[in-house]
Amino acid sequence: MLVTLPAELIDQAIESALPGGTIYGRLCDDGDLAQVHGLSPDAGAAIGHWSRDGEQAPERGLWLVFAVTGDPQAYLLGSDDVHSLECRVIRAREDYLARARGILPDGALAGRCVTVIGLGSGGSLIATQLARCGVGHMRLVDFDRLEAHNIARHACPLADIGRYKTRALRDLLLAHSPLIRVETWEANVLEQPTALAQALSSADLVVAAVDGEAAKLAINRACWAAGIPTVYAAAYNRAFGGDVFCALPPDGACYNCLSSVIGELFAPPPTAASDFSAGYADPSRMADMVAQPGLAMDVGVIALLAARVALETLLRGHDGVPEPLPDAWLLFGNRAEWVFREPLDHHFVAVPRRDDCPVCNYAQSVQSRLGISPAEAVSRRDSILAEIDSEDAEA
Ligand SMILES: [Zn+2]
Repeated sequence: MLVTLPAELIDQAIESALPGGTIYGRLCDDGDLAQVHGLSPDAGAAIGHWSRDGEQAPERGLWLVFAVTGDPQAYLLGSDDVHSLECRVIRAREDYLARARGILPDGALAGRCVTVIGLGSGGSLIATQLARCGVGHMRLVDFDRLEAHNIARHACPLADIGRYKTRALRDLLLAHSPLIRVETWEANVLEQPTALAQALSSADLVVAAVDGEAAKLAINRACWAAGIPTVYAAAYNRAFGGDVFCALPPDGACYNCLSSVIGELFAPPPTAASDFSAGYADPSRMADMVAQPGLAMDVGVIALLAARVALETLLRGHDGVPEPLPDAWLLFGNRAEWVFREPLDHHFVAVPRRDDCPVCNYAQSVQSRLGISPAEAVSRRDSILAEIDSEDAEA
């Protein structure tokens, strides 16, 4: 039997007012492993006893001895014999990122806050990847609950069916990373702008992995105004491919520019073999391209690429780690369709800022649309943007 225990337990036992007591945790693999989790019942089932300096040995069972000097010793006491057991001290916080040393700057992500909006198959995977890189503060936003058909592609397991995706994913992240703090909002960003504003407040990066263009455009407007870098991830019809776009206010183009020029950059596919062609030929139908079938690995590739872009964006400014990406828009094809010449083809595309974009080119756009002064454009910003929204919706 191997015995594991968290390093924090050693200090607790040595500083305890009691000379000994019960240890709690769980026995795994038919008694091959005893995981000691704590010295109180909220840490699991009672699995043995502990004492300080080897006094007060129990009559039988697992026995853990904490000494003021040296590592803890573990023993299995039989009816008339004693076996010494291998005992391993787990230093989860110190060792969690040991395999990332030299690749990620030490501690660079511990103080960073990332908001992930949309926790489906893509968003849940992106969030877990960022947690695994050591992001210290994660905010999760989604109004949906997990259903049986989600699980094959989602980061969370069967046991979470029926739970809010936010809370199930929070528990998964906490179970995985000893370094993370997680907040959740069970909210629809289109219907609850206050929740969106709270979730964005002071965030270092936003990941928009929501279905539907309307939600992405709302996130784009809020994040651009707040100056928050935002990574947009999408899988296409049946996940034949997908894309990742990074908006970096105040420079470059925003998501509104991308969504309005997408048809100009790439001609739609020559046949209507997929619904995707109709979606991109007619931007108003893009909102229909949601909840598509697709394999977990096909969606997963896009999500991992989005996580990679998010990581690069968070670490921008740290020397060469990781390498910056060539352009803001990355398109990846799982299959040879549309602009993808062969399976696993990809393109980086520079997206120009549109002169008439009311989000990232507000002043110029509004002045040319309405013929008003820069001062008036600034003072009436909210009402002007609302007017433009309603005009665009009618058009
Ligand atoms: Zn724009």
